[in-house]
Amino acid sequence: MPKFIGYRCSICGEEYLPGQVTYTCPKDGGNLDVVLDYDSIRKKYQPEDLLSRDDPSLWRYLPLLPVNEPKGDSTPLHAAGGTPVFSLARLSEEMGLKQVWLKDESRNPTASFKDRASAIVVARALEIKAEVIVTASTGNAGAALAGMSAAVGQKAVIFAPKNAPPAKVAQLLIFGAQVILVDGTYDDAFDLSIKAADEFGWYCRNTGYNPFTAEGKKTAAFEISEWWRSAHQEFHKKVGESADHPPLTIFVSVGDGNIISGIHKGFKDLLELGWIKRLPRLIGVQAEGSAAIADAFYANTEKIRPVSAKTIADSISVDLPRDGVRAVRAARETNGTYVTVSDAEILSAIAGLGKCGIFAEPAGAAAYAGLTRAAAQGLVRGDEPILVLNTGSGLKDVRAAMQAVVEAPIIEPTLNALKRVL
Ligand SMILES: *Cc1c(COP(=O)(O)O)cnc(C)c1O
Ligand SMILES: [Zn+2]
Repeated sequence: MPKFIGYRCSICGEEYLPGQVTYTCPKDGGNLDVVLDYDSIRKKYQPEDLLSRDDPSLWRYLPLLPVNEPKGDSTPLHAAGGTPVFSLARLSEEMGLKQVWLKDESRNPTASFKDRASAIVVARALEIKAEVIVTASTGNAGAALAGMSAAVGQKAVIFAPKNAPPAKVAQLLIFGAQVILVDGTYDDAFDLSIKAADEFGWYCRNTGYNPFTAEGKKTAAFEISEWWRSAHQEFHKKVGESADHPPLTIFVSVGDGNIISGIHKGFKDLLELGWIKRLPRLIGVQAEGSAAIADAFYANTEKIRPVSAKTIADSISVDLPRDGVRAVRAARETNGTYVTVSDAEILSAIAGLGKCGIFAEPAGAAAYAGLTRAAAQGLVRGDEPILVLNTGSGLKDVRAAMQAVVEAPIIEPTLNALKRVL
C-alpha cells in the first residue's frame, strides 16, 4: 500500500500525483495538503491498533504518515514526539478555569516542536535519496533539521538570521550542519534558501513550502486525541457527567502558521477516518508585533498582508507568514479564533509557567499568555477543557528569560550579608 496517494492545493483544489510536484502548487503557489488513502487505512486499521503500539514516539502513528520510518533504531530521530501533558491546576484556578493542561514540546530531542516536522522531512529525504537538505529558520526549525539529520548521517545546510539566539546557533553548529548566518531577517533567509535549493539541487525543508512539515506536525494532534480519550473522563468528574460538555480548546502560538495548520490536518485526518466525532477548537496566538495572520482572521479574509515583525518571541517573528491561509482556516473551521499578546504579557507568562516547573522560550510561553488574555476577555469559560502547547524550551533563549525575572543578589559569603537580603 503506498504511503500517500497525492497532494491537493489548499488554494485552487487541484490534485497532483506523488511524483508530479515537490513543494507548492505550480499554478498559484498554494501550499499542498498531503492526501492519504483514507479508505485503505480505514479498512486495514482500527484506532486500537495504534494505541497498542508500545513505541511512545511519533512513529507509533506510522499507518497515518506519508513516509516510512528510517531504518535503525534508538537515534534522536526515532524519539521525536511522545511529549508529556501536565496539569496546570494552580494557574487555572487563578483564571477561574476548571481544567487547564500543558503539552510540553520542549521535551523533544532538540527541545522544540520542530523536531516533529524535521523527523518526517528527513525520512522523506532518505526515500527520495536527497543528498543535501536545506532550510531557512529563525533557529528551531534549523536546530531540529540539523539534529534529525545528524542522527541518521544526512547532510544539512541551515540559513538563519544573524541575530538568532546564541543557544540555537550553538545547536546548529554542534549538530555539524553547514550554518550560514544571513545579515537580514528570517524572511530574507527564507528567500535565499529557496534560491540556493534551486541553484544547487538541494531538498528544501522550508516551513509553509515543503508539504511534509505539516505531516510531521499533525502527529501532535494524534497524541492529543489519544491523551484526551482518557483525560476527559477525569474532566467529567470535575464538571459533572454531562454528555454534552464543550469541546477541547487548544492554544497554539503562531508564526508562519504551519504548526496550527499541521495540528488542524491531524484532526481532519482522524475525522475523515471516523476515529473522532468532532474537531477540537483551535485558538492561534500571535505576538502583537508579528500578527499578520491574526490581522487577516479579524478582517475575515484569507489575504495575508505582510507586517514589519518585531517581538521578543523570535520563533514567531515573521513578516510574511508562509502558511497563513491554512492557519486562518484552522481557527475558522474549528470555531476557534486568534488572540494577540504583548511582549510584556509573554514575559509574565514565562514567569508564570516557571512557577509550575515549566521553562518556556518566549514563543512557547506566548500560547499561555494567549490563554490568560482569552480568559480575561471571556473567550473561554470556566467549564471548558483547555490544552496549551509549550512549543520550545527556555534554555533556547536565556537572555529573554532573564528579562522575566528579578536578578539574584550577589553577597559576601557571611551570615550577616545573607540576613540583609532575606
Ligand atoms: C516555529 C515555532 C512556532 C510557530 O510555528 P509556525 O509554524 O511558524 O506557526 C512557535 N513556537 C516555537 C518555539 C517555534 O519554534
Ligand atoms: Zn493551486
